[in-house]
Amino acid sequence: MSADVYFTNLRTKQGQSLVSKLEKLILRAGLTEGIEPKDLVAIKMHFGERGNLAYVRPQYVRRVVDMVKRKGGKPFLTDANTLYVGSRANAVDHLETAFENGFAYSVVGAPVMIADGLNGKDYEAVPVNLKHFKEVKIGSAAVHADALLAVTHFKAHEATGFGGTLKNLGMGLGSRAGKQQQHSDLLPEVDEAICVACGKCAKWCPAQAITVTHKAHIDHSLCIGCGECTVTCPHKAIAINWKTEPDVIQEKIVEYTAGVLRGKEGKTGFITFVTNVSPLCDCVAWNDVPIVGDIGILASKDPIAIDQAAVDLVNRASGNPHSELGDRYGETDKFRVLFPRVDWNVQLAYGEQVGLGTRQYRLIEMG
Ligand code: SF4
Ligand code: SF4
Repeated sequence: MSADVYFTNLRTKQGQSLVSKLEKLILRAGLTEGIEPKDLVAIKMHFGERGNLAYVRPQYVRRVVDMVKRKGGKPFLTDANTLYVGSRANAVDHLETAFENGFAYSVVGAPVMIADGLNGKDYEAVPVNLKHFKEVKIGSAAVHADALLAVTHFKAHEATGFGGTLKNLGMGLGSRAGKQQQHSDLLPEVDEAICVACGKCAKWCPAQAITVTHKAHIDHSLCIGCGECTVTCPHKAIAINWKTEPDVIQEKIVEYTAGVLRGKEGKTGFITFVTNVSPLCDCVAWNDVPIVGDIGILASKDPIAIDQAAVDLVNRASGNPHSELGDRYGETDKFRVLFPRVDWNVQLAYGEQVGLGTRQYRLIEMG
C-alpha cells in the first residue's frame, strides 16, 4: 500500500503567499487532525548553526504554530543539543543561536524549549527492541509531548547521503548520549598535542573515565560514550571518531526515529522544505550553493514516504553546475555524486523494514 505525500510548488500570485500555500498543504495532508485541545505539541526544528542560512524560515513556522493553536494545542519549538562543539551544544548557546536566527517568541509565537535540557542530560530511555538498540535516549521534552510535527529542511548530508525527516527526528532528538550512540561505535580520543591538562573534562565526566596527569587520558572500558568531554574541553582537545560505517549510522537513526514516534500514533505529521538544498547539513556554520533550484514543500503522515518523495524530486531536478556537483551535475543520483561511499537507500529500506512507513507513495500536487 502506498502513502499520500502532498506537494506544493513555490509559484505564487497576487493574493497567495507561500505561508498561505503551506497552510493549505498542511490542511490537505491532515497533519493537525490528531491534535486535541491542551495537547502539548512539539514542533521539531533545526534552528541552524550560527552562520548557516539554509534552515527553514521562522515565518513559515509561525504559520504552523498558529494552526496548532487554532486546534487548541499548546505548541513549542524544540531541538536537542549537539554532540560537537558549536553554537548549539548546550541550551544557553542553543537558545541564543535560535533567537539570533529568528526563532524568537515575537516571530514564531511559541516558546523554544531545548528537548534534552541545559547540558544534554535530560533524556528518557524509550524501549524500541530493535537490531542496534533495545532502548534509545530521546530528549525528554519530545518524549513527554502529546503530539509532534516535524518541520524539516531537506539537504545533502555527509553521513547519510541526504538529511530529511528521519535524520531530523532520529539524530535531532537524540540526547547527547543518544547522538554519541548513533554517531560512532568508537570512543572519544584526546589529542595530547592540544591538551593542557586543565582537568575540566575529568570533572564533568559522568563515568569517571578520565584521569589527568600530565595529559588527559580516557579509559575506554569505563566510557559510556556520552560525549560530555567533547563539549566540555575548552581547548577542543577531545574529538569523536566520526567514521562509523554509513549503513550502521543510518540504521541507528531509524531506530532513534522509532523511539521518537513511539506512543504518538495518529498524532504526528511531517513537513519538508525542498528548498536551499545545500550540499551539507545545517549543522555547519555556512551553507554552500544549493545543488538544485528550489522545488517546493511536502507534507505527509508517513516519514519514509516523505523522505523518498523528497529524494526523488531532487534527483529528477536539474543539477546546478555552479554547486558542489560541478561537472557531474547531470548525473541522476546527486547524493552519490557528493558522497560516493554513502548509500542513502539504507535508511529508507530499514525504516520500511521496522514499520515506520512505506517507500511507495502517491504524490498529490496542489495548485
Ligand atoms: S564520552 Fe562521557 S563517559 Fe566517555 S570520557 Fe567523555 S565524558 Fe567520560
Ligand atoms: S578539558 Fe581538554 S585540555 Fe583540559 S584536561 Fe581535558 S582534554 Fe585536556
